[in-house]
Amino acid sequence: MSIAELRHQLELGNVSARELVDEKLSRISKVDGKINAFLEVTIDRARADAKRIDEARAAGDPLPPLAGIPLAIKDNLCTKGVTTTCSSRMLEHFVPPYESTVTERLWQSGAVLIGKTNLDEFAMGSSTETSAFGATSNPWDPSRVPGGSSGGSAAAVAAGECIAALGSDTGGSIRQPASFCGVVGLKPTYGRVSRWGLVAFASSLDQIGPFSTSVADTVEILQVIAGSDPRDSTSLKVPVPNYSASLSDSLSGLRVGLIKECFEHGGLDPQVKESVLSSADLLQSLGVEVVEVSCPRFNDGIATYYVIAPSEASANLARYDGVKYGYRSEDSENLASMTTRSRTEGFGPEVKRRILIGTYALSAGYVDAYYKKAQKVRTLIRRDFSNAFNKVDLLLTPTSPTTAFLAGSHSSDPVSMYLSDLLTIPANLAGLPAISLPCGFDEDGLPIGLQLIANVLDEPRLLQVAHQFEQAADVLANKPAGQFIP
Ligand code: GLN
Repeated sequence: MSIAELRHQLELGNVSARELVDEKLSRISKVDGKINAFLEVTIDRARADAKRIDEARAAGDPLPPLAGIPLAIKDNLCTKGVTTTCSSRMLEHFVPPYESTVTERLWQSGAVLIGKTNLDEFAMGSSTETSAFGATSNPWDPSRVPGGSSGGSAAAVAAGECIAALGSDTGGSIRQPASFCGVVGLKPTYGRVSRWGLVAFASSLDQIGPFSTSVADTVEILQVIAGSDPRDSTSLKVPVPNYSASLSDSLSGLRVGLIKECFEHGGLDPQVKESVLSSADLLQSLGVEVVEVSCPRFNDGIATYYVIAPSEASANLARYDGVKYGYRSEDSENLASMTTRSRTEGFGPEVKRRILIGTYALSAGYVDAYYKKAQKVRTLIRRDFSNAFNKVDLLLTPTSPTTAFLAGSHSSDPVSMYLSDLLTIPANLAGLPAISLPCGFDEDGLPIGLQLIANVLDEPRLLQVAHQFEQAADVLANKPAGQFIP
């Protein structure tokens, strides 16, 4: 049932918030032992919140838009009084004294926190295998990864453990796991959603967005979390449109561009390619004109990102020194050794690798050759996009070059892991909104995702096309059996 239908049933009194919460809690206790999507399930709080909503309804109070909807939150978003670990030993016992803006807005809209979800440590990874608290499994096939870094959120939605979830996306961490788990994942325009209370990874790229099972539900969540925030100076001071108003507007006259360079890339799985190209045909039958466009620098996104993101991460993660909060190593002789040991023991190998790459790229002798060069390529990538958006309204690519890979298959080769972000990273570098939605299944019965990218702040058009594609394709109606898919 969609969020809108649930709201209606709740208003009619056919279902209670308590029932919704209990249904999700029992689903979690049934399947999460195998999936490990959750780091913490907030049972008491969820029941107490649900009780308050049921009492308000009984008293005849109007219900807020997300009343009683059980949501899961990626564990790099600060939740006051609820441990926020970033899946790192460094923050294993960190209980934030404040609430992030996005989660604050969700609770004010009546949503219920059901738990905090697993991620790659500090959101660095594409498989949720770098979590210090154990990997998450893909609910379609637990021998495979759910994608990452927001793999816990994607898996929780796919496995029916919550209605929707939040993730963060720095280079694809919402869209790639959405694609691997067969759900909808949206990365809004950079600055559309406040990041206050999101543990920073790479500040010029990070953005928060929803996971859900439909575009309509994505709209419900985005409507609540979007908007400027005085506590995040990068949040855009522009009004938030009514995203549901244009969802059903006619598609005729719209132009969608297939990015040539993506489809030519040798690493693209032929089954993924075929599925996305037949989705383009379906779009055409809905009245959209599909054309080919070129973004010559698109495939340079990976190299650019893996200089810029680690550089920013090395600066952002300098704050974990064992002094004010986070892990502190015992028995150090002096301040310097305390900091060194705390960081050595608190961070896992992937986080250390990023800090080392970033520190190197920013160091005096190399900053021109690496960091500044990467910034120049970033500008070229942005320019490619703006040229493309002179010709088309949206861009279409696969979300990921492959479907969900086997757990462990990329763990010993970081570069092969990084390549799974090939198609998602450019939208982050250019700050563009992009969505992943299911478009088919491969011969192993694993979901394939397509990505639509829009120009800055053009979420209305992105969601309109995504919604109508979803309705027409009805991909999940004929889904193969997935082991933990309801
Ligand atoms: N997989 C990419 C990385 O490892 C993106 C992660 C993200 O978007 N948080 O950096």
